[in-house]
Amino acid sequence: MNEDSALEEETQTHFYGWLKTSFIEYTGKIATVVFTSGCNFRCPYCHNPELVLVDPELAKISPREVLQYLDLRRDLIDAVCITGGEPLLVVENFFPFLKEIKKRGKLVKIYTNGSVPEVFTKLNRSNLVDLWGIDFKLPFDQYHLVKGGEFSDACRHTLEEALKKPERAEVRTTLFPPFHNKEVLMNMARMLGNARSWFWQNFRKEHTLSEECRDIEPFLPSLLQSWRDEINSILGRKLIVLRS
Ligand code: SF4
Repeated sequence: MNEDSALEEETQTHFYGWLKTSFIEYTGKIATVVFTSGCNFRCPYCHNPELVLVDPELAKISPREVLQYLDLRRDLIDAVCITGGEPLLVVENFFPFLKEIKKRGKLVKIYTNGSVPEVFTKLNRSNLVDLWGIDFKLPFDQYHLVKGGEFSDACRHTLEEALKKPERAEVRTTLFPPFHNKEVLMNMARMLGNARSWFWQNFRKEHTLSEECRDIEPFLPSLLQSWRDEINSILGRKLIVLRS
């Protein structure tokens, strides 16, 4: 069996979306971004609804195709980002793929909602992941709002573990008007201890998991800027980074 078919055999899982080049997903690097399918949360504002439920109709992308692209673009692509859906529900199937990426000297970033701490810990110890994108959706006692109430302790644990190596963790929150206001965000900021960066992204009302969200106006950018500045000033450091 050659290396490629061994990889296919071991992996048995595919990706369901692929953004071949991104300049924003891995700060300071050029990344290729692949998407897994299936999620255990139901955030109403989710803008990848087709990846939340496992849809057998979605086109499959094999890990081998992604590696071939990396080989073809070896001088262009610095990093591979895996997002979803919730990648940690399936990422163990991708261990051989992750090893192949590292063999090629590329960086790996994985996004997670934090609900599978045992897989997070296993991967975190494996040295196969260079950077984590960790969701911090709400104060943990409000995770029922994203249908993740049963995972709130798990998510807290993952965030705390990730922040033991803050240089390898980026925290992110989608700011959703029914859930967030300045006080909620200030409380969340106080829980972020030694985090290096907390990325805020404004809710977008197009293409959401819950159709009702399409009638909700996003925050005014100027309001988010003022909250960012005020909270950063109270914290005495530039923790919050606003993403457009
Ligand atoms: S936003 Fe993320 S965690 Fe929430 S439903 Fe969508 S994929 Fe799942």
